[in-house]
Amino acid sequence: MEREVSGMRKYYESGKTKEASWRESQLKGLRSALMEKEEDILKALKQDLGKHHVEAFRDEVGILGRSIDVALKSLRRWMAGREAKLPKIAVLSRADIVPEPLGLVLIMSSWNFPFGLSLEPLIGAIAAGNAAVLKPSEMSPACSSLLATILASYLDNNAIKVFQGGPQLGQQLLCQKWDKIFFTGSAQVGRIVMSAAAQHLTPVTLELGGKCPAVVDSLSASWDTQVAAKRIVSAKYGSCAGQACIAIDYVIVERNFAPVLVESMKAWINKMFGENPKENNSVARVVNKQHFSRLKNLLDYPEAKNSLVFGGSMDEDSLFIEPTILVDPPLESEIMREEIFGPLLPIITVEKIEDSIQFIKSRPKPLAIYAFTNNKTLQRRMSSETSSGSIVFNDAIVQYVADTIPFGGVGGSGFGKYHGKFSFDTFSHEKAVMQRSFYTDFWFRHPPWTLNKFQLLQAAYNLDYFGMLLVLLGLKKTRRYSIWAAM
Ligand code: NAD
Repeated sequence: MEREVSGMRKYYESGKTKEASWRESQLKGLRSALMEKEEDILKALKQDLGKHHVEAFRDEVGILGRSIDVALKSLRRWMAGREAKLPKIAVLSRADIVPEPLGLVLIMSSWNFPFGLSLEPLIGAIAAGNAAVLKPSEMSPACSSLLATILASYLDNNAIKVFQGGPQLGQQLLCQKWDKIFFTGSAQVGRIVMSAAAQHLTPVTLELGGKCPAVVDSLSASWDTQVAAKRIVSAKYGSCAGQACIAIDYVIVERNFAPVLVESMKAWINKMFGENPKENNSVARVVNKQHFSRLKNLLDYPEAKNSLVFGGSMDEDSLFIEPTILVDPPLESEIMREEIFGPLLPIITVEKIEDSIQFIKSRPKPLAIYAFTNNKTLQRRMSSETSSGSIVFNDAIVQYVADTIPFGGVGGSGFGKYHGKFSFDTFSHEKAVMQRSFYTDFWFRHPPWTLNKFQLLQAAYNLDYFGMLLVLLGLKKTRRYSIWAAM
């Protein structure tokens, strides 16, 4: 592995990956891979996670195709950089902000969206002109192995490689020197990544998880309640069975409104997944037995079990957990302390919906907050008084699709951002390039120092050209003249 990594670094240093044509050819290669291997990808997602083909296309293949198209369309513009404004003192100069690739980067990803979470950052890494090693998760083996096969046959293997393995391989990779590590996973492993990166002063992006709340105001119109309930049910149970970093982790609702919301959600669960969800292929499966028993334990916690109002059935052999609703499990129970990452949804009731703001603020900053409300004051307060990676009003998880807004966490939910141009920026260094003329060499910027030079420097920093001229002619004194006159 070390030999391969050092070979990749040499290849990067040859300058090949910096060429616009190389970047375009790799992005096109990835686009072809997605189109030609779509069926295999959908099958692998079914095999590892029981994702329905339509869900898999919606959440992974479809989004990736779009991301590549956006990158291909915008690449030359992104690469061109931009001119920067300069202060007046830098007369007859020009400055540009020029993106340059970081070098050889490591992308470590999670299993819940094995293609999306691996290839979305890879698109940014390639567009920015880097060489990249990708380490997908061992927990989605069919997807990881397909990723390795596809990338090996569609992309330039001197610069882009997949390494398959688990935590041990992760550790070995982290011992290498990288120019950037882009990590998607748990906060616990995020800490390991960050301390390994510190040894080489390597910059990191950490895409972590946490508990994302959805606040549901007592909506007056029954249409709004229906739509809110539908979107909550679909976002929670209809996207990898709640095993998503931006899945709704719990709902906060006013006590009086809770029964209305729960009834509406039950009806939508029935409509979307049928009377017998276990037989319905629209419900994804829990990734493995370890996660299955983790989720089972969350529900088995006695007080949590007492708060069960819907669902709760499980089948370990098929790794199936029914879409489940709990109302007011104790706040100290595991289900309200740990990220759930599965199809269990606690509903927490409050006296007034405004209390939800304090509830959210008293917990670690989430990756996303969702608020279903038409109340503009509540929207404004929710947005300004809480902090989260993103906030969405009246829907959930849709922010992932929008490539014009940054995707990433804050505080405990991670740092750094990607998607669209943000991915390109994440894998680039914005180099400041300044161009000076040999003329206009202001004498007052060089020693020996005199009071007059001091005045002119003050003028240069604080005044416009006319003001500088007046100071030069002795017709104007700078503000702090009297203090420095005593020097
Ligand atoms: P994880 O941290 O266990 O694993 C992530 C990656 O790190 C995998 O590739 C794994 O092989 C590797 N790894 C695990 N242990 C390691 C170690 N000791 N040393 C080196 N590498 C190691 O996370 P997971 O179970 O894959 O994912 C679940 C978590 O990821 C949840 O918290 C979820 O919220 C979060 N997540 C966040 C996002 C996001 O975009 N913010 C997306 C998906 C998942």
